[in-house]
Amino acid sequence: MENIKKTTPHRVGIVLANEELDIPALKFFILSMNALQDQFEYEFLPTPDHGELFEELQKIEDVDREAVRSYVPNFLVDFPKWLEKLEDGYNLPHPRPDQWIIVSEACFSDNFYNMRENHVSVIALGNWQRSMAPPSLFEFIQTLIVRESIAGVCPALRGSVHLGTRGCICDFTAYLEDTRLKVLSGFICHSCEQALAASSRPTLATTVRYILNKKWVGNLSDPTSTTSVLAKLRYNLFLSTGLKPTFLESTINLLQTEGVKALVTLFGAVALAGLLFFFGLKSGGS
Ligand SMILES: [Zn+2]
Repeated sequence: MENIKKTTPHRVGIVLANEELDIPALKFFILSMNALQDQFEYEFLPTPDHGELFEELQKIEDVDREAVRSYVPNFLVDFPKWLEKLEDGYNLPHPRPDQWIIVSEACFSDNFYNMRENHVSVIALGNWQRSMAPPSLFEFIQTLIVRESIAGVCPALRGSVHLGTRGCICDFTAYLEDTRLKVLSGFICHSCEQALAASSRPTLATTVRYILNKKWVGNLSDPTSTTSVLAKLRYNLFLSTGLKPTFLESTINLLQTEGVKALVTLFGAVALAGLLFFFGLKSGGS
């Protein structure tokens, strides 16, 4: 991206609230954005095993968004302290990001899917359903992280910006299912672009468009592309929908990446296991 000036990146610390989200392919996909541009720099930080904010977000039942908001002040004190102890154990320095984004599988009781308080954002994916694909859940998460990052650097775009659905990343959408259009569009509208142009990061709209159009993911014919690496991590960006691929998605992915031979081997193993099971039952009954 030649037209993007070198700049100090806005550092974003991402914490995954639920262990189900701790997926190498997802982390790789998000961190791939670091090499594409120099406006945002993402890093994953470990999930603490305590703290009222995380305990709330890990609840199976619906979560009160305002309760989550009320836990943010303590999070901003306790979490860095907890990280500091970890860092001291390894003689590491204590660098802190400019913004925190907590990605969770929580369901907010008001059906909203995000919460911003101070420089902390919480993304709640509990209302995501496979029927919302395409786009994949990975793409949802990527777009929502970029949207929160924009809110972190541009005060004018911090709140809800426009009610009209433009396919813009800053579209106001109350419900997660309504965000599909902005995830699929990878667009930023003229008024939001002007707001970014007037901010401390005037070239950010170009960066955001580039990140969101996802041409950079490449294709499976290039073994070094992001798509190929994701496929090797068992996530096919063009097939997979949820956090983990279904059996059918895995089978097609295997076929595309490893070829027919691997598929025959897989089904051969399944057939052999079936035969062994069948004859095992036969011999057991005689
Ligand atoms: Zn807009």
